[in-house]
Amino acid sequence: MAPSRKYRLILSLLITSALWAAPPEAPRKPRLVLAIIIDQFRYDYLLRFRNEYHSGLARLLEKAAVFSDAHYLHAATVTAVGHSTFLSGAAPSTSGIVGNEWYDRAASGTVTSVSDPATKLVGGIPNAPGSSPHRLLVSTVPDEVKMQGAESRTIGISIKDRSAILPAGHMADAAYWFDSDSGNWVTSTYYRAELPEWVARINAEHPARQFIGARWFPFDAKDESGTPFCTMVAGTEVRFCGSLEATPWGNEMIEEFAERAVTGEGLGHHAGTDFLTVSFSSNDYVGHAVGPDDPAVRDISIRTDILLGKLFDFVEQQAGAGNTLVVLSADHGVAPVPEVNRARHMPGGRLDRNSVTDQINQALSKRFGPGAWIIAGSPANMPYLNLKLVSSLKLNLADVERVAATAAAGVEHIARVYTAQDLATGAVQQDAISRAFTLSFYGPRSGDLFLLQEPYYLFDASGTSHGTPYAYDTHVPVIFWGPGIKPGSYGESIAVNDIAPTLAALLGTSEPSGSMGRVLTEILQ
Ligand SMILES: [Zn+2]
Repeated sequence: MAPSRKYRLILSLLITSALWAAPPEAPRKPRLVLAIIIDQFRYDYLLRFRNEYHSGLARLLEKAAVFSDAHYLHAATVTAVGHSTFLSGAAPSTSGIVGNEWYDRAASGTVTSVSDPATKLVGGIPNAPGSSPHRLLVSTVPDEVKMQGAESRTIGISIKDRSAILPAGHMADAAYWFDSDSGNWVTSTYYRAELPEWVARINAEHPARQFIGARWFPFDAKDESGTPFCTMVAGTEVRFCGSLEATPWGNEMIEEFAERAVTGEGLGHHAGTDFLTVSFSSNDYVGHAVGPDDPAVRDISIRTDILLGKLFDFVEQQAGAGNTLVVLSADHGVAPVPEVNRARHMPGGRLDRNSVTDQINQALSKRFGPGAWIIAGSPANMPYLNLKLVSSLKLNLADVERVAATAAAGVEHIARVYTAQDLATGAVQQDAISRAFTLSFYGPRSGDLFLLQEPYYLFDASGTSHGTPYAYDTHVPVIFWGPGIKPGSYGESIAVNDIAPTLAALLGTSEPSGSMGRVLTEILQ
């Protein structure tokens, strides 16, 4: 045989055997996705308290794919919007979730992101109004999995109704939240007519009662001789916690409920991928009250690390090792307390929301005649104009908006004002902040004016808040851990909107209907 023929034969054998070789094994599909939001958990809390994390967060930081530059793209960095983006990948301009609440012109009243007069609460005060995802206009990843048809379960859990409902989506088997009026875990008739037995059993144990009169001491306090962060008794010298939600025990109740959901619903044991969405709310309540630089925030962050470790252990034990995909993020960050900032020579301060609204109203009254030009109860940073008044006087809405915007822009420490017309037509300064406002604008629901305060300024009279496109509000953790994920530290700039399409790719489903992110292919095995 001539060498060239021999060579050709070997080559053809090599090619044939390459064709025969099995394709690289696709990573196992997770049996369960554990999708976690820590409410108001700013990205820097991962680094700031890193040395004190030894449990769940430490495990993620060591073993997971961790993004260090993940931001929200929208300006309306509030709870409902963050939770709606998390598993839909959609901006409010598409999802329709433009805030925690907004003025509904058709109903002539304020609605919340999940309020649903067609439903009733189940498990709480009889006949109390219920909540549902009916205002969410897009699908979520769990919806897409459900639409594929394989049997799977989706359960959403949080203390807040919106945080339980919005990530889980429309086809969820149930969302459960804590109803402080009754002290019970509840759902709504949107999902089911009665509580399942495992939830009824938890309520029969009265989970909240054990915390009556409790005092919150640092997690590592040796005894109770020191000063507590707060107490559940009002009127003492120690700060009143305000509510159970505003203590670490709120998170403990959520974690306990999540464990019971795993066993109660047999999560991780269905033909299709199950979803458990858990939103830890207490970090947000505590953060609002005392601000990011207070020792109570450090304490609840460390306690969250411990709780997550407990939850991960339990889920792994129930669903089997290597069967759970964990994805973790936060719904928004938070600004420092203005007084704390001022004391350290940083900018910041407080705006009087009533005075801002008054100034707009006065300018409109002066120009077009006296009247209630702003709808009462409008959010300070997104006022709604009285359209009935505008049309009764046969005025051009764009002219009215312009006069209102000029007045608002004249208020000290207001950095920018957009009108609905500006955002709808793209007549805006071309930069990231304008894009963030455009992505937050949904015509049928949004207000007529959008006010952006200077960085570190708040419309709140006390404590601190969030809701701007500034980095302290948009920068959050994005972490993936589990089958199919390449661990590591990822420094590229990504959007929280990338979580949903990435999950869809991992699970082999369509991306959700309003998804605007990209698949984070760099973390896929
Ligand atoms: Zn929140």
